[in-house]
Amino acid sequence: MRAELVSIGTELLLGEIIDTNAAWLAQQLAAIGVDVYFRTTVGDNVGRIAAAIQIGMSRADVIITTGGLGPTVDDMTREGIANAVGAPLELNHELVEQIRARFAKWGRTMSENNVKQAYIPQGATPVENPVGTAPCFIVEHQGHFVFVLPGVPREMKHLTETRVLPWLREKAGDSSIILSKILRTCAVGESLIDEKIGDLEIESNPTVGLAAHSGQTDVRITAKAATRADAEKMLADMEARVRERLGDWIYGVGDETVEQVVARMLTAQQKTVALAESNTQGKIAELLRSTPEGLNVADNLIRLNDDEVNEKNAEQIANILRAQTGADIALAVLSTMGAQDMYLADTGKTSIAISSDSNTRSYTYPVGGMGEMAQQWTAIRALDILRRALL
Ligand code: ATP
Ligand code: MG
Repeated sequence: MRAELVSIGTELLLGEIIDTNAAWLAQQLAAIGVDVYFRTTVGDNVGRIAAAIQIGMSRADVIITTGGLGPTVDDMTREGIANAVGAPLELNHELVEQIRARFAKWGRTMSENNVKQAYIPQGATPVENPVGTAPCFIVEHQGHFVFVLPGVPREMKHLTETRVLPWLREKAGDSSIILSKILRTCAVGESLIDEKIGDLEIESNPTVGLAAHSGQTDVRITAKAATRADAEKMLADMEARVRERLGDWIYGVGDETVEQVVARMLTAQQKTVALAESNTQGKIAELLRSTPEGLNVADNLIRLNDDEVNEKNAEQIANILRAQTGADIALAVLSTMGAQDMYLADTGKTSIAISSDSNTRSYTYPVGGMGEMAQQWTAIRALDILRRALL
């Protein structure tokens, strides 16, 4: 079964509110194996709402709309749906009574405006809304079903859980299930990952997709199958193929962070680490401290001149640090001040050295400075170097 989501509201188009309804609905549908191929956002305009519904019905079995069901003039959903299915709006007495009863319960009287909410397209099935006043309804049209839900997230969720999902589960007949797994990589660019697994990204079940965020690229695998066991098997097979290509670029799964993985490895191997970082505002220490292990990392805020940032200096500092502290591993992260612009990550320079009893190694990257992105990248790189030393 295929569903399409239509979010109604000019404020959504203007970016004044974020469409969290569609995101939530999409997750619920995925979890019960209903495919969503398109999502539409449309303003409070009868003609355009009707068009969005018609387009939706041309390519999906079920349309779920949210928003625009209130009592005010700018709530156009009822009219839009009526136009789309070519049925006039009709006063539904059952709904009038439901709205009246709710108002009575709150000790208020129903206004004329609220009666407007009881008009639904001829032939539509009213659905009681026990958590708000906006009534909702289901319209069947030429084998397609349109679920018309209120915009208020709390009401929308309640009606989805109690009405829409049970209906879909029953109608869908097949109890297929969709499972996802995220493999997390860091310190490698998205394009490099894409080069390695591009051919897997065009397979259709399981699907493999990439999502990049500063310093990290997630590989998401999604499988659809009749049973959980089948979906799990498909995920595992694809995961093995991805791991074969990406190897130790993958540092973790799910919502694991690289600092958590590093902290866990340090604890398991009973190793101590000493850290010197400059121009990162103590970012790396902060990340390590924030882990469940709560590593005890000292604060230090060193400022260096640009000409002091080089691999040789980084190695010397790492060696001295290790000798003086007696730590198993010492990490020296030297960054130039770089540009002050928050978003210019590609100015400046960072040298990272790692010293252990087996050797001292160093790396230099063309990223530095006080910008948030640069600091994030620097921290992720440094943590990844530490992780690799612990592998
Ligand atoms: P009401 O009876 O409250 O007017 P309604 O069905 O007319 O309900 P809207 O007026 O479209 O719903 O939206 C009511 C509120 O719900 C909005 O002000 C907004 O805060 C929230 N809302 C609406 N649509 C969405 C959406 N797609 N995602 C998140 N929040 C939304
Ligand atoms: Mg409204």
